[in-house]
Amino acid sequence: MAPKRIVIVGGGAGGLALASKLGRKLGRSGKAEICLVDKSPVHIWKPKLHEVAVGVIDQSIEGLLYRDHGLKNGYRFLRGELIGCDPLKRQITLSKVLNHEGEQLLDERHVAYDALVLAIGSVSNSFNTPGAEQHCIFLDNLESANVFHNKLLDNLLLLDETKEKLSIGIVGAGATGVELAAELYHVLESVKDFGYLHIDKSHLEIHLIEAAQQLLPGLPDKVGAGAQSVLDHIGVRLHIGVQVKEVTKEGFITQDGVLIPAGLKVWAAGVKGPELLRQFTFLPLNQRNQIEVDACMRVKGQEYIYALGDCSSLIMDNGKCVPPRAQAAAQMAATLYKNLVNRLQGKAELPFRYQDYGSLVSLSRFSAVGNLMGNLRSGSLFIEGYLARIMYMSLYQRHLASLYGWFSALVYRLAQRLLKWHRPKLKLH
Ligand SMILES: Cc1cc2nc3c(=O)[nH]c(=O)nc-3n(C[C@H](O)[C@H](O)[C@H](O)COP(=O)(O)OP(=O)(O)OC[C@H]3O[C@@H](n4cnc5c(N)ncnc54)[C@H](O)[C@@H]3O)c2cc1C
Repeated sequence: MAPKRIVIVGGGAGGLALASKLGRKLGRSGKAEICLVDKSPVHIWKPKLHEVAVGVIDQSIEGLLYRDHGLKNGYRFLRGELIGCDPLKRQITLSKVLNHEGEQLLDERHVAYDALVLAIGSVSNSFNTPGAEQHCIFLDNLESANVFHNKLLDNLLLLDETKEKLSIGIVGAGATGVELAAELYHVLESVKDFGYLHIDKSHLEIHLIEAAQQLLPGLPDKVGAGAQSVLDHIGVRLHIGVQVKEVTKEGFITQDGVLIPAGLKVWAAGVKGPELLRQFTFLPLNQRNQIEVDACMRVKGQEYIYALGDCSSLIMDNGKCVPPRAQAAAQMAATLYKNLVNRLQGKAELPFRYQDYGSLVSLSRFSAVGNLMGNLRSGSLFIEGYLARIMYMSLYQRHLASLYGWFSALVYRLAQRLLKWHRPKLKLH
């Protein structure tokens, strides 16, 4: 049966791009009804969450309002958290919506679908480390980024009075940990301009702890080494090849029993599928709680349910899983878009082919490092510095283009730049 009602749950890097494309192609013309569900009313591209956390970007400028965007792009936005799914009735259940006072605004609701796409992303994986859930912040969503931001502001206030040291510990030197560490130094360098006259970067002590033998594990050695040299230079304390066995109020206790002190603690070591997925017994899950899908992103054993992005597990021809990255989510969205249109037109679906274009990691104003991969070269090309920064910024531009189209994305970016120009460079409130 051709899917006339397509419901996408999760408006992140993959889900929002898919809803926008389907909305413009099928929703506007009434060929299908496209509905996007998200628990948040605002979209911030997840790779920018650490920038929200430190106040380098302001969600009121960078945030996209789903409702408004849906109206302009041919899809209907429903705010709500997915809590139930009945594949036989082909309907999902959304939780109640409460207001700021905790009073009920909307009751639980059912939403019917002909095709369902699960794109609810991932959460940080604490690997059951004792104390991690209790003492660490997980940069999983806008709320947790705001929690970090508020704690950082509290600490800045205190620091300005006491002139003591602020110690921040980050577990996991993947893109999140590395980018956050660099961004924090940048912020501490700049706070004098915002009236925190007694603070400079000598008051900051950042510990970046990584169990693997290099920073940015999973990326080529040269990229990890490039990031290491920049972080070393700016003063980040690197603990490489060190495993955390417990987290306490005081800090991180390593496998060797050493305490790495940290007042503010962030856990950014690996991801897994959201716990919620365990409740849906019809979903085949891998060890990391991700939904197992076939080459066309269809959930194994389900005719009308698809999954993409971080919450999915698609095994490629080389036997590896498609990595949990923004570029993978965007590529999956592009293929699923074609497949859903094809299905509506009675044409065959195409298998997903992941193309790794390389990875770029921002080191704030200090630099950027990464590797580029392409069809023209065999192997990968290491890049760093200004060129890598430009390439890094172009990734976000591509995401915007998938949401607005290239021309509108350029205008939107320009407008954001102008707004930022006359507003403070940091959001320290
Ligand atoms: C700080 C940071 C930096 C990163 N940097 C990079 C990078 O440089 N390059 C890169 O490729 N990747 C990076 N990543 C990873 C990248 O952000 C993810 O791989 C990507 O966002 C996954 O896209 P997605 O669409 O699967 O999920 P997401 O973008 O996480 O979107 C999931 C959406 O689902 C919604 N949702 C979740 N649960 C529910 C529910 N129950 N009901 C309704 N809605 C729900 C959420 O609100 C969210 O909008 C970074 C991640 C972080 C945290």
